[in-house]
Formats: sequence, structure tokens, C-alpha cells
Amino acid sequence: MGSLAAKRALVIGVANERSIAWGISQALHREGARLGFTFLGETLERRVRPLAESLGADLISPCDVTDDAQIDALFAEVDRVWGGLDVLIHAVAFANRDDLSGRFVDTGRDGFRLALDVSAYSLVAVTRAAEPRMKDGGTVLTLTFAGSERVFPNYNVMGVAKAALEASMRYLAADVGPSGIRVNAISAGPIKTLSAAGIHGFREMLHVAEARAPLRRNVSQGDVGELAVALCGPAGAGVTGQVLYVDAGLSILGV
Ligand code: NAD
Repeated sequence: MGSLAAKRALVIGVANERSIAWGISQALHREGARLGFTFLGETLERRVRPLAESLGADLISPCDVTDDAQIDALFAEVDRVWGGLDVLIHAVAFANRDDLSGRFVDTGRDGFRLALDVSAYSLVAVTRAAEPRMKDGGTVLTLTFAGSERVFPNYNVMGVAKAALEASMRYLAADVGPSGIRVNAISAGPIKTLSAAGIHGFREMLHVAEARAPLRRNVSQGDVGELAVALCGPAGAGVTGQVLYVDAGLSILGV
């Protein structure tokens, strides 16, 4: 029996087999969790559906996190299929490509609003929906990046969104803690994914991270998945409101 046997885990944020959420899903599945997945639009559905089916997913539903009606429909489906929820994985972020290069000072109001809505507010919206369904307690896990605290070239508005995400995570942890629900964030080092490809100069960041990180390597989707299992299972029972780094030690360095 795995550490997450029969836990009902809804994963928001698989786009393809490179997604961090996919690495997490595989680890949750190995530990015995039952899985549900969402997809954004028909193009990604074609990628997500076969992946989800390969892990025997109980539900595969559309969800654009900027649309409250879609969030409502998703959780209605959770009710119909599972009648409750134990684990919620939030691995969602978006900013306009133009806002991920050049100077942060040039970020327009609409691009700022969009990045914060998709990448930070969405955690609030889905945690609010999850809370009443986690009747025996549960775990909410989100993904963040060190650009929330320090300046990384071209990360720009996404760094601000991640700062808002981390602060939201702490406030949510305080709100839902009395219901036995834990909310945490994993801050991953750079990993080559679809979203990461949108950040100008990302390949360079991967090279620098590998050369300088104390472990002299980059982290993988699997590394993140292993910590996710720990946080969602008994090992994480006393942990909430935290940002935990899976970055081969990169974040401890000064220069
Ligand atoms: P990814 O492209 O595989 O995943 C991003 C997901 O966000 C996709 O599934 C996409 O469909 C979804 N998404 C975007 N807009 C959405 C919307 N409006 N509604 C619903 N879903 C939407 O990339 P990833 O790198 O696996 O990203 C997952 C999370 O990990 C993100 O929060 C990202 O910021 C974070 N993260 C990534 C890295 C990295 O280096 N790749 C490092 C640290 C944190």
C-alpha cells in the first residue's frame, strides 16, 4: 500500500509529458492515489487525455481558471465522481510572452492583471472550492519559483505573480488550517517545460543553474513529484503555509 492509497487527487496544470504536474501525478499514482485531471482547451485536451488515461484517471475535465463557471463545473464533476477530495495540485501560471522579456517597468495594466489572475488568484478560487469537499482534511499544493523573492532576467511580472501566489498560500493556510487542510508551495529550480520556453533566455538559466547549484545539476519533474508525495502524505502532516525549495540548493547562494 502506498502512502496515498485511495486518496482522491485533482491535478490542475498538466499540459504534456514535460509538465511538472505530470511528474507529480506519476509520483502520486505510484503511491496509490486516484487521479483527476483538467485541461485548458481542445488542443491541450488531445495531449492530456491519453496521459491521464495511462494513469487510470477517474475524471478528465476542462478548466480555465480565469472562468468561475468552469471552476464550478469542475468541482461539480468532482462531487459526482468522488463525492469529496483529499489532494489538490495547482500547477498553473501564465503571462503574455511580451511581458517575459525586456524591462519589468514596461508591464502594462492588462498584462499585469492577466498574470496575477491566472497565476495567483486562481489558487484562491480553487482552494475555496476545494475546502468544503475536503471533509476529512486535505492538502493543497502549488508551484512557485524563486523569482518571487529575487530578480531573475525576464521573469518580470511572473516574479510579482509568484510573490502574490506565495502570500496567498500563507493566508489560505491560515484560513483552512482549522479544517485540517494544509496549503504549501514547492519552489522548483528551472525545469524545461512548455511554460518555461516562453521565458526569454530560459536555456541560459538552465545552464547557469546546473553549473552553480551546490548539487551541480538541475532538478527534474520527478524530484518535485517526490517532495509532493511527502507533503501530501503522512510525512507532511505537520507542515503548512511553507515554501519548500527543490532546486539542488541554488537558492542558498549569494553570488
Ligand atoms: P506547463 O506549461 O507544463 O504547465 C503550465 C500549466 O498551466 C499548463 O498545463 C497550462 O494549461 C496551465 N494554464 C495556463 N493558463 C491556464 C488557465 N487560464 N487555466 C487553466 N490552466 C492554465 O509548465 P510547468 O513549468 O510545468 O508549470 C507548472 C507550474 O510550475 C507553474 O506554476 C510554473 O510557474 C511553476 N514552475 C515552473 C518552473 C519551471 O522552471 N518550469 C519552476 C518553478 C515553478
